[in-house]
Amino acid sequence: MDNSVKNGVAKARSQLPVGQSLLSCEECKCPIPEARRKAVAGVRLCVGCQSKSDKRQKEVSKVHRRASTRVC
Ligand SMILES: [Zn+2]
Repeated sequence: MDNSVKNGVAKARSQLPVGQSLLSCEECKCPIPEARRKAVAGVRLCVGCQSKSDKRQKEVSKVHRRASTRVC
C-alpha cells in the first residue's frame, strides 16, 4: 500500500510541469487558495495536507500519525 502511494506521488510529480499548481488539494480535494498556488510553484496539497505530508516524509515512524483531520 505504501508503495503504491509513493509511486502515485512520484508519478504525479513527474507528470506535473514545474510551476503548474492544482486548483484543489490532491489529497482532500479542498480548494487551494490562489495566494498559495502563486506562492508555491507546482503546489499539489493544501496547507494542512502539505504539512502532514512533510511530517510523513521526515518521520518514518508512524507514532506521530494522527487521525486525518481536515483543516479546510
Ligand atoms: Zn488537503
